[in-house]
Amino acid sequence: MTFSSIIVHYREIGLKGRNRARFEDALVKNIKDTIALRGLDVRRIFGRILITLGQDVSHELIAERLRHVPGVSHFLFAVRVAPTMPEMSQAAVALLQSSEPFTTFRIEARRSEKDFPFSSMDVNRAVGAAAVAALGKRVKLVEPERTCTIEIVGRNAFLSLARVPGPGGLPAGISGTVAALLSGGIDSPVAAYKMIKRGARTVFVHFHSMPFTSPASVAKVRDLAAILARFQGASTLYLVPFADIQKTVMMETAARYRVLLYRRLMMRVAEALTRKDRVGALVTGESLGQVASQTLQNISAIGEAATLPVLRPLVGDDKEDIITEARKIGTFETSIQPHDDCCQVFLPRSPATKARVADLEMEEARLNIPALVQQALEKTTVEEIQPKWQN
Ligand code: ATP
Ligand code: MG
Repeated sequence: MTFSSIIVHYREIGLKGRNRARFEDALVKNIKDTIALRGLDVRRIFGRILITLGQDVSHELIAERLRHVPGVSHFLFAVRVAPTMPEMSQAAVALLQSSEPFTTFRIEARRSEKDFPFSSMDVNRAVGAAAVAALGKRVKLVEPERTCTIEIVGRNAFLSLARVPGPGGLPAGISGTVAALLSGGIDSPVAAYKMIKRGARTVFVHFHSMPFTSPASVAKVRDLAAILARFQGASTLYLVPFADIQKTVMMETAARYRVLLYRRLMMRVAEALTRKDRVGALVTGESLGQVASQTLQNISAIGEAATLPVLRPLVGDDKEDIITEARKIGTFETSIQPHDDCCQVFLPRSPATKARVADLEMEEARLNIPALVQQALEKTTVEEIQPKWQN
């Protein structure tokens, strides 16, 4: 079967007036930018987006990319015919015939043209009857093996058999900018993804302890950023050398507070570093109670070091669910590669689980915090990370 079009569906309740146009314009632009094929015709049509496929375009490539565009709820490869009963019937028969063997099917027509002479029901019946006659299959309205959808829009009928899910959410970039603290672990890439999916342009900040940790750990974070970049396009990655700060903290402060002091410094550095990106919030992969540093007391003691709000999209998620999501978005396999964690290198044996901000501030009084932050800023490097695709 040669598909001539793709119909892209989006859904967001409460999309009204100017917001709706903004959403749709951003979505069309992001689809074009993500697929990145010159001359691809992408346009809005009756509450959907129509992509017209030229010759010689790889359907795999286009499908892989569309699956990564936030705002897309699902899409369908379709054949386009004139909206007459004979044409639609003929196309439905050909489409069903081209699919794997099956016994039951239904036709599901929808129309946006109010002046179209038939109701959706009429189309279902007529095309369904034609397919029964031609193929000898049975119509089953509930859970059939095949559903042939017919969308009648803009004086065309688009027929398709399979819908491909997209991420849902909102077009990338429509909700402002945030800075995500990206470790090499499983959680923070998922947290960053959730923000990207809700339309926040996300810059990434990673703290590494080279030369005490290997360059492979930084390479791994680059890979994670390149996977996340599929969802928002070329992305900024800040790499902050953290070893000197850690050494200072280690020499000057009580061991049990170290992890929290590192984290509070990360907050301050991330905030100062991304000020010029006009970020509205910091994002972490913290999940309540997951590890000792993520008790309610510790999470809030860490957050208090920042003046920006700290968003924690995974705070109420179970590890299982986070792993499922990581697999779905494609970061899991990279996250589980061995790496040395910057904080493990300098880790105390019994970290505080209920730190009070007053105690942390007392420890911090032994440090020259502004100087440490400044020093980190000066040594930070920036990279632009391009999306890494399979096709
Ligand atoms: P993850 O799976 O994201 O590594 P985690 O379960 O290991 O998280 P923590 O080590 O307590 O949890 O880290 C909490 C959060 O702090 C991370 O999700 C991440 O947002 C941030 N973070 C930790 N280490 C780093 C790092 N080296 N660079 C940037 N951010 C970090
Ligand atoms: Mg970690």
